[in-house]
Amino acid sequence: MTPKTDDTDTVSDPATRPCILCVAITGSVPTKADNPAVPVTVSEQIESTQEAFEAGAAIAHCHVRADDGTPTSDPERFARLKEGLERHCPGMIIQFSTGGRSGAGAARGGMLPLRPDMASLAVGSNNFPTRVYENPPDLVDWLAAEMIAHDVKPEIEAFDLSHIFQAVKMAGDGRIRGPLYVQFVMGVRNAMPVDRAVFDFYVATLRRLAPDAEWCGAGIGAGQILLNEWSIAAGGHTRTGLEDNVRLDRKSLAPSNGALVRRAAQLCEKYGRPVASPAQARAILGLRPA
Ligand SMILES: [Zn+2]
Repeated sequence: MTPKTDDTDTVSDPATRPCILCVAITGSVPTKADNPAVPVTVSEQIESTQEAFEAGAAIAHCHVRADDGTPTSDPERFARLKEGLERHCPGMIIQFSTGGRSGAGAARGGMLPLRPDMASLAVGSNNFPTRVYENPPDLVDWLAAEMIAHDVKPEIEAFDLSHIFQAVKMAGDGRIRGPLYVQFVMGVRNAMPVDRAVFDFYVATLRRLAPDAEWCGAGIGAGQILLNEWSIAAGGHTRTGLEDNVRLDRKSLAPSNGALVRRAAQLCEKYGRPVASPAQARAILGLRPA
């Protein structure tokens, strides 16, 4: 990988590149008490994703819940969800979470043999609102190796600047198959806040270290709409959905994941970015066809 020395070889005009919208439908934290639209059962998840898909989401970022609503990494539930999404959202990119709120150790990767198109991969540790988000090096390496073994493209979750450097290092020594797809996550309490100068530095740093990488911005809570707008304006991709934010604005709850996707799609229109179809998103990310 050759570091860039100037900006003249920047990927095609950011102003007209298709923008990939990812919908994070459920997560492991929000409950129906926070917003009744949060899909919890597999059938609710499929229905909610289908509306988001029709609104323009090309990637579904998925967690699953147990019957009592608590997070789980149960591969059987992931399998049922994947089957339903393939049927009702043809071509949509399915991304499973290997995040640490849903299990511990190797249980976090137990669904990777199902061969989703993508899976999230945190490459370092940081604080979360009430605890340490533990991603020890041996677990990160194991999850990354499982993703290579099952042809799953990782989405690197960058909660901190050091995570960008670590991802580049792992791509360089073959632990991650490139080109990288990095998501900048801002606004998690006790981790990196929503900060414009840091966002710009993230974008510039990734471009410098990994010119062939694609990136996505995700903001938590009220930061969601900000990260959507910053990312779309800067030529990146962006994530929305009830996992990160249950409100449409200060006064009202979001009626659905689809409503949040429509809001992001309107921002794409404002900046003249076409919303990427699933097929375009697969080509941009170097994924196998559906
Ligand atoms: Zn997630």
